[in-house]
Amino acid sequence: MGRCMTLIAASIAVESAAELDSVLDRAGECVRAGATMIEWRVDELALETDGIRSTLELVRRSPAPCILACRPAWEGGEYGGEEAHRVALFEAVLAADQRPRYIDLELKAWRGNPAWRTMIRACELRRDLTTGLMLSVHDFRSRPADLLQRMEAMVLEPRCAVVKLAWQARSLRDNLEAFELLAARQKPMIALCMGRFGVMSRVLAPKFGGLLTYAAADSASPTAPGQLTVPELVRTYRFAQLGHRTRVYGVIGWPAEHSLGPVIHNAGFDAVGHDGVYLPLPVPPEYEHFKATVGAMIDDSRLSLRGASVTIPHKENLLRFVRDRGGRLDECVERIGAVNTLVVGSAGGMACLNTDSTAAVEALCANLDVERSDLMDKEAAILGAGGAARAVAAALLEAGVKVTVFNRTPQRAEELRDQMGGVAIADRKALSRRRFDVYVNCTPLGMSGGPAPDQSPLPPDAPLDDSVTVMDTVYAPQRTPLICEAESRGARVITGMDMFLRQAAGQFEQWTGVPGPIETFKTAIRSHNAAAGAN
Ligand code: NAP
Repeated sequence: MGRCMTLIAASIAVESAAELDSVLDRAGECVRAGATMIEWRVDELALETDGIRSTLELVRRSPAPCILACRPAWEGGEYGGEEAHRVALFEAVLAADQRPRYIDLELKAWRGNPAWRTMIRACELRRDLTTGLMLSVHDFRSRPADLLQRMEAMVLEPRCAVVKLAWQARSLRDNLEAFELLAARQKPMIALCMGRFGVMSRVLAPKFGGLLTYAAADSASPTAPGQLTVPELVRTYRFAQLGHRTRVYGVIGWPAEHSLGPVIHNAGFDAVGHDGVYLPLPVPPEYEHFKATVGAMIDDSRLSLRGASVTIPHKENLLRFVRDRGGRLDECVERIGAVNTLVVGSAGGMACLNTDSTAAVEALCANLDVERSDLMDKEAAILGAGGAARAVAAALLEAGVKVTVFNRTPQRAEELRDQMGGVAIADRKALSRRRFDVYVNCTPLGMSGGPAPDQSPLPPDAPLDDSVTVMDTVYAPQRTPLICEAESRGARVITGMDMFLRQAAGQFEQWTGVPGPIETFKTAIRSHNAAAGAN
């Protein structure tokens, strides 16, 4: 199946004639970045004294075919003027020599005011009208109860060339309905979900044959909630490469939007030629949300969900979910009690595993330039007793390392010891007296945005020197207080980013059968950071 030619419409709001040159420049940048259409939102411009003339100029100078919209306040826009003026604006635009490819008119306006129909008929009679009428429905609060009836009304309207539906998604599941509507479309259609849950519908429009997706010119000026920027769609999500057969992956978390997952995995898919796309998949914390959302996505065969990274707070939920559904569990996963990777087969069967575990040992071996067997009988201190600590402890124990766990809440350390066997636990004071070969921080201390970004989990008098190795699991920032302190005392250091890239590479291999290209991941993060810094 070939790629669908789903368009990217950069949506740009124009407030006044004084901005014409600058918005046209921005539109030009969007086209150079990959936008194939411009949506001019003239809600405010239209109300200026010379609004109609300025709108005509905008359409004439548009660097790509355009959609003209003048959204009234009653449909979530900024236009607060008379309806007669809006009709006159569109009439002037349709009479001009250079006309938009589409005009976007709300279904409610079309049905409610006969002046629109009269105007369109008059324009058709005057000339061969090449501009298409897009009828639209927007709901910025929720899914309209009569969504299907409204869609039907647009489909049945002979003058309607494009049906557009946009509503605020209540969960990821709303996207699945948008895809279902697109798949059954009887006319060119746009079906998009707005808000944090709707990003999937914006990115996957080409997979389901949507006519277009809207994008923001830059992250500061989206015209609807949840819009990505043109460069994000084109570069990060590889919009032009997505098609009917594209397999879907993502990061399930709450929040999920801050994850570097889309940056690295999409770059990796590109590098190895895998027809996949990786998305942020925000799911609220409770198990019921997880079960309903992830279950619906797996069961929707059209979506082709083939895997996910699972992060806070869902690592235990995934294990429970896969167990409940009779999926395959990696052998050491039961002992760890948490997983970070979901793999879904094409027939819906699934497995889960923990790549944090292997990544920790791989990071150690690679940085120490030793084989796994060389870790035998080394002494490691693990700081923390949560999911990451359990994953790291399991892998170190398996490699024959002697593990001692230190945790703020002794009871949790005891639980870990009882579950894993072979682990010692000790009081934090022992960290000042005793030397370990390896220290691994598995608490969020040092993490930006975490409970104590300026703190190190080790006491200042811990015996750090050039004979020890200090590994952090915290990766934002890369240079945590622990890493800085250990480095200044001569210890060998391994950053959380090293482990992060390795656990991601492990997931990538599970999904694609090809080892995760770590150098590609690193380059992708560097250019992402450079672009973020530039904004
Ligand atoms: P978790 O299950 O919530 O466990 C957190 C642990 O940190 C618990 O032992 C907790 O102690 C301890 N802790 C929390 N706040 C503390 C504080 N203020 N002072 C002392 N101890 C504190 O979390 P997790 O999933 O294990 O994640 C822990 C860290 O690992 C996170 O920063 C995460 O980003 C990182 N991680 C990194 C990677 C990677 O690839 N680099 C992978 C997985 C996780 P109590 O038992 O007393 O609450």
